[in-house]
Amino acid sequence: RPVYQLRNVSKSYGFGKIRALDPVDLDLRQGSFSSVIGPSGCGKSTLLKIMAGVTPPTTGSVILEGKPVLGARREIGMMYQQATLFPWLTAIDNVLLPISIRDGKAAANDRRSEAQALLELVGLKGFDKVYPRQLSGGMAQRTSICRMLITEPQVLLLDEPFSALDELARDFMNIELQRICLSRNATAFLITHSIPEAVLLSDVVYIMSPRPGKFLEAVPIELPRP
Ligand code: ADP
Ligand code: ADP
Repeated sequence: RPVYQLRNVSKSYGFGKIRALDPVDLDLRQGSFSSVIGPSGCGKSTLLKIMAGVTPPTTGSVILEGKPVLGARREIGMMYQQATLFPWLTAIDNVLLPISIRDGKAAANDRRSEAQALLELVGLKGFDKVYPRQLSGGMAQRTSICRMLITEPQVLLLDEPFSALDELARDFMNIELQRICLSRNATAFLITHSIPEAVLLSDVVYIMSPRPGKFLEAVPIELPRP
C-alpha cells in the first residue's frame, strides 16, 4: 500500500524563471527504504521539502496516508545535513523537545530514560547533559537523529543526514537507521551522494537527471534484509 503518492509535482522559483524540479510522480510503499541520487542542483532537496509539506509545490499533489501532506506533519521525521540543535538546551533536552512541544513538559520528563537510551544507542552515553557547542559535528548529528526518532515517526525524510560524520560513524549510523526502520516498519526516503550507501540501504534507488529533476529511472535493489 502506498504511503506517499506524488503526482505531477514540480517546483519553480522566480515566477517560473528557475526550474528547481520538473514534474515527478512517485509512490512509496509502506516500510520501504528509498534513496535518491543525483548531482547538485537537480532538485533533491526541493523534492524532500515538498514531501515534508515545508515547501508548497508549484504544480501537483502530495498525498501522505490518503491525505494532503500539509495536515500530516506529525507523522514525518526529518533530518538535514547540518544539525539544528537549540544551543540553550542540553543534548537530552534537545532530544525531548518534540515531545515537550507536542505533549507538554511532564510527558517529556516521563520519557527521559527513553531519550537516554537513544543517546546511548548512537554512542553518546554520558553526553546527555552536554550543550551543543561542546559536541562535534558528528555528535550533534547523532543527537539530531535521536530527536527525530523519539516521536516514532512513520515516515523519515533524510537529506544527507550523516555527511558530517566520518566514514566509520556513518556506516554505523546507517545500519542503525536501517534496523530501526525495519523494526518500526517505517518508510524512509534518503538523499545521498553515495551510490554504495544507496545500494546498501535501499529497496529502490531513484536516479535524478542532471538538469532540473526528472526521475530517470528507479532501480529496485533486491538484497537479503538483516
Ligand atoms: P539539490 O538538492 O539536488 O542540490 P535543490 O533542490 O537544492 O537541488 O535545488 C534545485 C534548484 O533550485 C537549484 O538550481 C537551486 O539553485 C534552485 N533553488 C532551490 N531553492 C531555491 C530558492 N529558495 N529560490 C530560488 N532557487 C532555488
Ligand atoms: P566527527 O564529527 O569528526 O565525525 P565524531 O562525532 O565521530 O566526530 O566524534 C568522534 C569521537 O570524538 C566521539 O565519539 C567522542 O568520543 C570524541 N569527541 C568529539 N568531540 C568531543 C567532545 N567535545 N568531548 C568529548 N569527546 C569528544
